[in-house]
Amino acid sequence: MSKNTDIIGRFAPSPSGPLHFGSLVAATASYLDVRHRKGRWLLRMEDLDPAREPPGAADQILRALEAHGLHWDGPVLYQSSRLDAYAEALAELRRQGRLFACRCSRQQIQADGGVYDGRCRTLGLPDKGNAIRLRVDDVQVDFIDAIQGPQSQHLKQACGDVILRRKDGLYAYQLAVVVDDAWQGVTDILRGSDLLDSTARQIFLQQRLGLPTPRYAHVPVAVNELGQKLSKQHFAQALALEHCSGALLQALRFLGQAPEPALTRASVDEILAWAVQHWDIQAVPKLANIRLDSHS
Ligand SMILES: [Zn+2]
Repeated sequence: MSKNTDIIGRFAPSPSGPLHFGSLVAATASYLDVRHRKGRWLLRMEDLDPAREPPGAADQILRALEAHGLHWDGPVLYQSSRLDAYAEALAELRRQGRLFACRCSRQQIQADGGVYDGRCRTLGLPDKGNAIRLRVDDVQVDFIDAIQGPQSQHLKQACGDVILRRKDGLYAYQLAVVVDDAWQGVTDILRGSDLLDSTARQIFLQQRLGLPTPRYAHVPVAVNELGQKLSKQHFAQALALEHCSGALLQALRFLGQAPEPALTRASVDEILAWAVQHWDIQAVPKLANIRLDSHS
């Protein structure tokens, strides 16, 4: 199949646990959205926090994606191999006078309502032992989400100055994701709606670094019977690899697609071939309308 190199999507899990249904939904949606347009689908492992990554989790995720027929193009990009690029981006922002060291604890900021008020901006604290933050402007960032519709966030009021390097010296997700999406040439980001709130600050960061802004779409996040997001914290079960076809069909229905009844006994490859052909982003619900029971 000839590939359309103008469309590049990606799935970017953090290897903090096995693939669960929520991450399968996000991976499947991104895969279908780019394969439907004959684009390239890349895989990036967001392995920047070794303390939260059980040994073998990254490989387990890759095997689970393959078992579900979700084959990616090219080599996997590991963020742990990209530290020089993040350092370079920080240096550029430092040249712009955008960075400052911050000694505030998460608890302090939570006590102030969760929005960082910039109190360390002018203190001239040393980098060592402190977090590094990006000074945001008093501006509103607008973008169109292909599923959630027009979005708008006032950065200073909604989130405040953004941490780019943590107190422990680890690079923050917000910096790494922006640098790597640009480096990999990603044009279409389709991911879970738990990241909708991060998009405006990522666009602001792209603009500061002179990087292009990709198209964004956020799919609903799967919740359990208690209404909690399926994540490692809530003990979401790893997908059982002997039920891949069933899990894929369930992911398609969660995404508002209507797989034909005949696909019930089909292989993952047959299901995905159908789903690539029939992918309809307009049918994806804005909010999760299916709650998963504990058998899923
Ligand atoms: Zn501070």
